[in-house]
Amino acid sequence: MLSTDTSIYIDVQPTEDSRIASLDENNIPFGRVFSDHMFVADYKNGAWTDFKIMPYGNLSLSPAASTLHYSQTIFEGMKAFYNKNDEVVLFRPKENYERLMRSSERMCIPKMDKEIFMQGLKKLIEIDKKWVPKSDGSSLYIRPFIFASEGFLGVRPAEEYKFIIFTCPVAAYYAKPVRVKVETKFVRVASGGTGNAKTGGNYAAALYPAKLAQEQGYDQLIWTDAKEHKYIEESGTMNIMFVIDGKIVTPPQGDTILDGITRKSLVVLAKDLGYAVEERPVTVIEIEEAMKNGSLTEAFGMGTAAVISQIAAIGINDIDYELPAVETRKVSNHLLKELKAIRLAESEDRFGWME
Ligand code: PMP
Repeated sequence: MLSTDTSIYIDVQPTEDSRIASLDENNIPFGRVFSDHMFVADYKNGAWTDFKIMPYGNLSLSPAASTLHYSQTIFEGMKAFYNKNDEVVLFRPKENYERLMRSSERMCIPKMDKEIFMQGLKKLIEIDKKWVPKSDGSSLYIRPFIFASEGFLGVRPAEEYKFIIFTCPVAAYYAKPVRVKVETKFVRVASGGTGNAKTGGNYAAALYPAKLAQEQGYDQLIWTDAKEHKYIEESGTMNIMFVIDGKIVTPPQGDTILDGITRKSLVVLAKDLGYAVEERPVTVIEIEEAMKNGSLTEAFGMGTAAVISQIAAIGINDIDYELPAVETRKVSNHLLKELKAIRLAESEDRFGWME
């Protein structure tokens, strides 16, 4: 293992055919435009080796690679963006590293030294800095991931892996308020499962129930616990918060809920701003009652992609409850404004979140 302050050797193979001229910052389709380079590391013979930055491109893979069959794979999502001082910054990247390592533990993927992740990440962004868009709210989305690359059909932890980071410029995310349905048949994950690992299978399993909800006119689902469908867990691929009687209420971190970095940051920020925050189990019945009696004034999802995504309506057992207009939502609008100010260096980084 490398110690924490060791610098790693990265073999940089620059592209001879940059695509940057084709980037139109005012018209970036989400998730389809990739920057020039990617960082790649291989795990073989019991160690992470061969750190390189090379032109972004297709991979060559054995059809027997176990990730393709048994989904031994984990990923992260983060962003780099310009702050008001014209610096390219990252929001809490070590949290992404820590979560990737927690996911790796659950999925039997070998651990990686923090320096490989951080130095690979920073060097890649430095090399592809031109790909960080400058317009307000836009960013460079970063996708680190690890997958089993060994060509072996046995069901056991693989002995070879690839770690890759690639990046993707994305436009400002216009988060249209969403209509969500409380899911009471299907489940995202069960306790004891892989819910707090960021692993592909969780997302694949969620596609079908989400598709059914979309056919009913909803944008996405609110997931409930697998045992009783009594407790609220997450909203789509985001964590969830409510404002009830002026207090912020959010389901607690546990093994069925992904430990979202946006959520944990908003909890700290909200407490700092003087809001009462309750991290506790939230029941569907309680939310339904609070919508009926008007004590629930705000509901929103949160995650790296949109930061805050307002919920316009919640469907419970075929009844749709419309929530107050987004402009009236003092708490979430305040939190978003304050978090944005920290991220853009418009206010002091008092929690040490920016790198
Ligand atoms: N829950 C799930 C299932 C997610 O995929 C994400 C996005 N990573 C989140 C919550 C939000 O996490 P974060 O704030 O770290 O993006």
